[in-house]
Amino acid sequence: MEFISTRGKTAGLGFIDAVLMGLADDGGLLVPKAIPQVSGDTLAKWQQLSYPELALEIMSLYVDGEIPRDELKALIDSSYSTFRSKDVTPVRKLKDDLYVLELFHGPTFAFKDIALQFLGNLYSYISRKNHSIIHILGATSGDTGASAIEGVRGKEGIKICILHPKGKVSKVQELQMTTVDDRNVLNLAVDGNFDDCQRIIKELFADVNFKNEYHLRAINSINFARILAQTVYYFYAYFELLNHGVTGPIHFSVPTGNFGDIFAGYLAKKMGLPAGKLILATNENNILERFVNDGLYQPGEFHMTYSPSMDIQVASNFERYLYYLLGEDGAAVSARMEAFRAEGRITVEGDLLAQVQQDFAAASVENDDCLATIGQVHDDEGYLLDPHTACGVAAAGQLGARGEATVALATAHPAKFNEAIELIQIEQTFPTQIQALFDKTQHQKQVSGTNEAVKAELLQFYS
Ligand SMILES: *Cc1c(COP(=O)(O)O)cnc(C)c1O
Repeated sequence: MEFISTRGKTAGLGFIDAVLMGLADDGGLLVPKAIPQVSGDTLAKWQQLSYPELALEIMSLYVDGEIPRDELKALIDSSYSTFRSKDVTPVRKLKDDLYVLELFHGPTFAFKDIALQFLGNLYSYISRKNHSIIHILGATSGDTGASAIEGVRGKEGIKICILHPKGKVSKVQELQMTTVDDRNVLNLAVDGNFDDCQRIIKELFADVNFKNEYHLRAINSINFARILAQTVYYFYAYFELLNHGVTGPIHFSVPTGNFGDIFAGYLAKKMGLPAGKLILATNENNILERFVNDGLYQPGEFHMTYSPSMDIQVASNFERYLYYLLGEDGAAVSARMEAFRAEGRITVEGDLLAQVQQDFAAASVENDDCLATIGQVHDDEGYLLDPHTACGVAAAGQLGARGEATVALATAHPAKFNEAIELIQIEQTFPTQIQALFDKTQHQKQVSGTNEAVKAELLQFYS
């Protein structure tokens, strides 16, 4: 399978090179040149597969023999053997037509584990095969860092450094990252906010000499391997509902930040999964909701919310969707992205907007509504949602069709965001793995928010 850039100037990459490249050299994002098509017969065969078996079938279509099937199987099996549920991503009926797809049974209790356990093992595999050094460098607002560290801690040939904004991630997220004492892990607590961390990373990666000399690799959600791993649970949930006798359309509601998770759903549909609507749920940071409903993609004012992993103004995976919306025309995508840089906005109207609204429905869910949803589902169903999941459930309530099934993606365990849960006087018992973190020693270094300070720490870490 060949991977190409959304901007049309990078092409001819195989799966492994696409994973290693991360961001395409021409500044675009990597996509498969042709999306594999899955027939009805194949879907029928896949319907009874276990999660790892299904992942093997789907990923094989993209890996396309670059990793021998038995080795890919071993990678997938070890990635999902760390999950606490034998179903990996169990589906649970909440009420009437509403289901939740629990994506938080991995080691760090957030859906990022599904992609990052796999990507960590994949990097380790590539390092062993090619005898190459891999230095992962990333910034996190909380979940990605914890999950990426958990994916590669203690693995040979790999070092990982994660920047987080000091004091601006939830307590549990901070503990998950910093109580890891493996020598291949470095946590930098940066004086500044998440945007500062992301800017530093971007600039260090843009320094091509530095990047190549020190073997820097990315783990952010633009990496195609992450998207691929996430398509699996859309198929899996769809089959679970069929196996439980659900008939009629099956819609998905997705709490969205960087557009990675919902893009995976879009890709699954393009492969041939006959799912219904994709409901895009945002919080007050609603650039994507405005894009779907009004055709305007323009960053607004930044809001801090109870769902911090969705506090994002520029969605890094959006360009992938734009590529398909514009008819897979790299030149058209480049022109739009160039205009976005110059004018700070992208607008679509007429037939294009109609297409967007056929692909997605969207709602933005504000803080009060988020907490009210948590409270109501807790009272009525005895089920505790995390604030991100609550945005998806609230959006499903607004936009899901009556009498038709909607699957709301549950992207984190509520224990990770107790700060919000406490506000509505709900007391939760932490899972033992999370409770145990509070007694462990933290390992992190504080740095000022400058490239030089971070670079100095990295040089010491790599030596
Ligand atoms: C990352 C994250 C999201 C947003 O996912 P995207 O792929 O960035 O759209 C939603 N909820 C939680 C808990 C997350 O960690």
